[in-house]
Amino acid sequence: MQLISKKLVSRLHGSKAIGHYCLGCDDLHFILLTYKGKHCNFDFNLENPTFEGAFQQVWGETPEERRLCRYKIVQGSIRYFSACSHEYAGSSLNLLEVPQTIIEDYEISPSEKP
Ligand SMILES: [Zn+2]
Repeated sequence: MQLISKKLVSRLHGSKAIGHYCLGCDDLHFILLTYKGKHCNFDFNLENPTFEGAFQQVWGETPEERRLCRYKIVQGSIRYFSACSHEYAGSSLNLLEVPQTIIEDYEISPSEKP
């Protein structure tokens, strides 16, 4: 993975997806890029991104362990649905920079200098 801005990472291989940090889950979430003709669900604004649609992450094998994170990202703001299992359910937060600990855990490369 590689940083494409302070807030976003890109996969180097496989399907095109953009990763961002989620404070509620303290982890990266990936959004798959989709194209309709020339139109993409990501506006390529690296500082204040917008992704069309809502996204969901689910964990847990059993109903008791089940954890949900459902959100939208609009103009650099992450808007959590009230159904989220974490403490930011129902809140909007500015998208944070990817923390150094995550960069090290995932061995994310720094962005290439142009
Ligand atoms: Zn999350």
